[in-house]
Amino acid sequence: MIGAGPAGLAAAIAASEGGAQVGILDDNAGPGGQIWRLQSNSWTTRMRASGAKFLPDTTVFDVAGSHRLRVLKGRQAEEITFAKLILATGARERFLPFPGWTLPHSMGVGGIQALAKGGLPIEGKRIVVAGSGPLLLAVAAYLKAHGAIVPVIAEQTSKVHLFFFGAGLSLDKIRQAGQLFWHLRGIRYRTGTWVTRTTPGQVELNHGPAIACDYLACGFGLVPNLELARLLGCEIKRGAVAVDDNCRTSRADVLAAGEVNGVGGEELALIEGQLAGYAATGQTVKATRLRAERKKHLFFRRMLTASFAPRRALRKLAAPDTIVCRCEDVTHRQLLDATGERDAKLQSRCGMGPCQGRICGPACEFLFGWPPGNLRPPLSPVPISAYRAKP
Ligand SMILES: Cc1cc2nc3c(=O)[nH]c(=O)nc-3n(C[C@H](O)[C@H](O)[C@H](O)COP(=O)(O)OP(=O)(O)OC[C@H]3O[C@@H](n4cnc5c(N)ncnc54)[C@H](O)[C@@H]3O)c2cc1C
Repeated sequence: MIGAGPAGLAAAIAASEGGAQVGILDDNAGPGGQIWRLQSNSWTTRMRASGAKFLPDTTVFDVAGSHRLRVLKGRQAEEITFAKLILATGARERFLPFPGWTLPHSMGVGGIQALAKGGLPIEGKRIVVAGSGPLLLAVAAYLKAHGAIVPVIAEQTSKVHLFFFGAGLSLDKIRQAGQLFWHLRGIRYRTGTWVTRTTPGQVELNHGPAIACDYLACGFGLVPNLELARLLGCEIKRGAVAVDDNCRTSRADVLAAGEVNGVGGEELALIEGQLAGYAATGQTVKATRLRAERKKHLFFRRMLTASFAPRRALRKLAAPDTIVCRCEDVTHRQLLDATGERDAKLQSRCGMGPCQGRICGPACEFLFGWPPGNLRPPLSPVPISAYRAKP
């Protein structure tokens, strides 16, 4: 199992029930993934009790053979082998460039929540929450509950899209949304609204006066972490790993579960994780039961993608001198003549910094329509010793 978020944990527990020898690794110091971070809960407790071996602080950075992965643990590179692999590498935030987005007071929506959970003082701070998707609501509720003042939530999608999204929700999801809005009472939720510029101390929106703030939290939904799946040769369709009803990828020995298959929330990640764990270990009766459950949630996943897709107007936000690739300081102007991702790399080093295009890649895909280019290992920066031949 690669990834110890909801999907990876559920997969590890399910596979262990089938008697498999299970290893689960994650680049974080503990299990929990993006939503639970390092807090323990019933899933982390069950994983620890299941007999699965958990490897923290372990990053997969390369593929060493058909059933071997290269991992970095601390500064030590190792190879691990597998008979079956379940990818549960999750998703990350999508950032779109606008003037000021790289300034220190401007952060991702999930990013500021992670920092607050890690100790960033937010009590009494004014934080504008902007971008797109339900994560804005979840994070605004968290910030408010921890003493921050959220003057506005700026959602770029239109009222019409939001209405159809709401109309398609299950009763359970409507209840969850109702609870969130109850926690958010008193905070303005503005649809069809987005940030056009930010400077320290204020945020300008596409309409209305500038808003004073200490921080801007801005993210335009999530995009699946596909790098490892691509390196393993798994088929990718519409920006996610292509899987069948059993979460099997195009490679017979590799399954995928959770948001790497498309962004659909925690419940679907848990269902897919269990399904993949059962399918990988031949527990077909249990897998069959979950397939129907998964289908119900797939509709939500599709609705989410369609309803909160960034609108075309956001392509015009970046000014010529706005940085697009923040690792290599590449501006929008420098990319205008590039013919694609590879050309941009060759001409400007866009996407060649430490994040290896994880931030600017999805932004360039949206801004210029460039499909992701060739992927080369290592997937993340590693010491040169990681590739030194063993004596
Ligand atoms: C920044 C952020 C904040 C979020 N906050 C919330 C929230 O507050 N409320 C909410 O309802 N939903 C939130 N979500 C959405 C939520 O994370 C998902 O719905 C759900 O957790 C997906 O579960 P998952 O197991 O598919 O992926 P994740 O929980 O993302 O777990 C994937 C794990 O795989 C690890 N990983 C990835 N690649 C590698 C590699 N090469 N080597 C080793 N480990 C690797 C990652 O570090 C991560 O721990 C957030 C998402 C993001 C990106």
